[in-house]
Amino acid sequence: TLRILHSSKDMALSLVDVAQQFGFIEETLAVIAKPCTVRDVPSAPALPRRAGAVELRNVTFAYGRGRNALDNVSLSIPAGQKVGIVGPSGAGKSTLVHLLQRLYDVDRGAILIDGIPITSVTQDSLRDALAVVPQEISLLHRSVMENIRFARPEAGDEAVFLAARAAACDGFVGRLPQQYATLVGERGAKLSGGQRQRIGIARAFLKDAPIVLFDEATSALDTESEMEIQAALIRVLRGRTLIAVAHRLSTLTSFDRILVIRDGEICEDGTVDELRRAGGVFDRMWRLQAEGLAQDPILDSV
Ligand code: ADP
Ligand code: MG
Repeated sequence: TLRILHSSKDMALSLVDVAQQFGFIEETLAVIAKPCTVRDVPSAPALPRRAGAVELRNVTFAYGRGRNALDNVSLSIPAGQKVGIVGPSGAGKSTLVHLLQRLYDVDRGAILIDGIPITSVTQDSLRDALAVVPQEISLLHRSVMENIRFARPEAGDEAVFLAARAAACDGFVGRLPQQYATLVGERGAKLSGGQRQRIGIARAFLKDAPIVLFDEATSALDTESEMEIQAALIRVLRGRTLIAVAHRLSTLTSFDRILVIRDGEICEDGTVDELRRAGGVFDRMWRLQAEGLAQDPILDSV
C-alpha cells in the first residue's frame, strides 16, 4: 500500500507538473496568438535589420465588412523619430499599430519598413524588428525576471535589471516578497494594471528593436511613474523609432511629432508647437486639458 500511495503521489505530482507546463504553453500561445489570415509568401526573405524608417502608402483597411478603420492614410516616419498619436476613441489609432505588426493585411496600399513592404518578408523577422507594448500586457505565470527576459531570452541579468529600472519597475519589485524572483500569478494577477504595464515597457526596452510601438502603454500609470518612464523613453530609445498612442497630452511635449487621427484619417501632423499655433483639433484638446475641463481620456471630448 505504501508503494502504491507513493507512486500515486508521484503521479499526482507529475500531473501537476504537466498541467503547469501546459498552462505555460497555453499562455505563451495566447501571447503570440493572432488572426491567421496573414501568411508568409513562399521563401520570403527576412527583413534586414536596419534603422527603422516606417512608411504607409495610401493604406485603407476595414475590419470585415465594417466601415474603413483607416482610410487612404499616407505617412512617412524617418528612422529615429518619436511620434505621438492622439485622437478620439474609435479613430483608428490601435488599427494603425495592429497593421504595422501585420496582425492584418491592408485592403489597399502598402506598409514599408526601411523601404521594404512588410508583406514581402517573414513575419518572424517583422516581429523581431518591433517592440510592442499593448494596453493590456499578457504575463506568464513565471517570475518577474523571466517575464521581462521573455522579450530577449539570451539577455543577461544586468540587461534585465537595466531595462526594469528604466521602466520604473525597481520600486514595486523591491517590495514584492521575493523581488525579481516573485511569481506574478496567472496572467499577472498578483500585480496591478500599472505594474503589469511597467513590466511590458521593460520588455520593450530590453528587446532592443529598431521600432517601438506603444498603444496607450502608460494609461494605467499614475502621473509620477508616467513622468519617470517618459524621461527614460527618450534616453533609452535614442536612435530608435517610437510610435506611441498617447492618452494624456502632457506626455507629448518630448515627442518630435504629433499625429491627430480622426475617423480613420490623419487630420493634423506637426510638432506640439506647430499644432498649437494652428489652432485646430489638437489646440482645442490642449486648452481643454489645460483648463482642467477634460480628464483622461481627454480626447473623447472633442
Ligand atoms: P482607437 O484605437 O483609435 O480607439 P481602433 O483602431 O481600435 O480605434 O478602432 C477603429 C475602428 O475600428 C472603430 O470603429 C472600431 O469599432 C473598429 N474596430 C476596432 N477593432 C475591431 C475589430 N477587431 N473588429 C471590428 N471592428 C473593429
Ligand atoms: Mg485603441
